[in-house]
Amino acid sequence: MEEKGIEFIRLQFIDIFGVLKSMNITPDELDEALDGKLMFDGSSIDGFARINESDKCLVPDPDTFQIMPWRPTEKGVARMICDVHNPDGTPFEGCPRWNFKRVLREATDMGYEFNVGPEGEFFLFHTDDKGRPTLEIHDKAGYFDLAPIDYGEDARRDIVLTMKQMGFRIEASHHEVAPGQHEIDFKYDEALKTADKWVTFRDVVKNIAKNHCLYATFMPKPFAGENGSAMHCNQSLFKNGENIFHDPNGDYELSETALYYVGGLLRHAKGMTAIANPIINSYKRLRPGYEAPINIAWSNSNRSTLIRIPGRRGKATRVELRSPDPVANPYLIFSVMLKAGLEGIKNQITPPPSVEEDVYCLTAKQRADLDLTYLPRDLYAALKEMENDPLVEEAIGSHCYNRFLEGKYKEWNEYAEQVHRWEMDTYLRKY
Ligand code: GLN
Ligand code: MG
Ligand code: MG
Ligand code: MG
Repeated sequence: MEEKGIEFIRLQFIDIFGVLKSMNITPDELDEALDGKLMFDGSSIDGFARINESDKCLVPDPDTFQIMPWRPTEKGVARMICDVHNPDGTPFEGCPRWNFKRVLREATDMGYEFNVGPEGEFFLFHTDDKGRPTLEIHDKAGYFDLAPIDYGEDARRDIVLTMKQMGFRIEASHHEVAPGQHEIDFKYDEALKTADKWVTFRDVVKNIAKNHCLYATFMPKPFAGENGSAMHCNQSLFKNGENIFHDPNGDYELSETALYYVGGLLRHAKGMTAIANPIINSYKRLRPGYEAPINIAWSNSNRSTLIRIPGRRGKATRVELRSPDPVANPYLIFSVMLKAGLEGIKNQITPPPSVEEDVYCLTAKQRADLDLTYLPRDLYAALKEMENDPLVEEAIGSHCYNRFLEGKYKEWNEYAEQVHRWEMDTYLRKY
């Protein structure tokens, strides 16, 4: 920090609902912080702590130290991602990052290294002259051949370059299907690092978009009738440096372990939906016809199922879970995915046969023959499923589990009490 002239350090963590929080300190406070002595009021963070037990400490993880390249280079700003502890130094059960480490230990104890490669989709909107987001997407003009500049293209380029400066290896970046929609994929890594990177990715996208007078949103479905945004999670288990999902002699060149892992994910697909798709709007994305999953099934190359096994084999063999969306708390959803997969391996859960048909186009009879069941259709249904699946509570810990349910039922009730535009349009004149 001395070398780089860093004058501010942001201590970051994300709350149970996936929102990034940060506290600024100066280098003078760093020793205290690294010793875990930096207190904050946990009761002011959604779902963290009640007022009578509210003191919490931020413990920065030095491995996550990064300079924020979009801040001034003179008197610069760096950040570290933190775990949350209790004042007595014990880890705080409601810290999603600490909780994920707990679940990761189960994988380590079985000799596995858990890797995740995410694909990040988001929308860019124009801002007004006060910098507030408008409902206008940036590349509407892109449909006309003579548009002079694609602002989105420039912003995306800048996002990618910034991410590279922060140590990301970018595998691909491209315009996505919907107008104003982009995707950036970064290379898989150990799952904890990937979760941290996901937090960083969202932060970079928002800040760089702002520098281009655009507003980036990870809201899963801003427009009815267009594709929504996903956070596909490509998962694999390694043992002694080898990807154990690959077996050249197995069906589809997949190992038994890989199939059991898929079996575990499918078994807990309903229960994990609220964590993967945590807001009301998430369920507007999970509709037929937009490359997002609706049924609980797996396939080899089919983009209409919940789980897909992308074509690459060898080290790149992986299971792609397609339901999570970009507002999911990465630590929580990774905890549940991993726990479900490990459960599949331990209990040797064989998945049903793969489904290679486009599930959006099946008749009711074909659907019944394939025994296809649906993912929960709205947040309320997903919360009920979560309550029916004890594995989710084991995976995210009782604290996160209870506070998540509390907060989300409240969100659902607020929504349910509103009279929406669609109802007025449909019913006012009809009845
Ligand atoms: N945007 C799609 C979704 O919501 C995914 C599109 C794709 O990457 N093939 O899941
Ligand atoms: Mg992709
Ligand atoms: Mg995509
Ligand atoms: Mg994908």
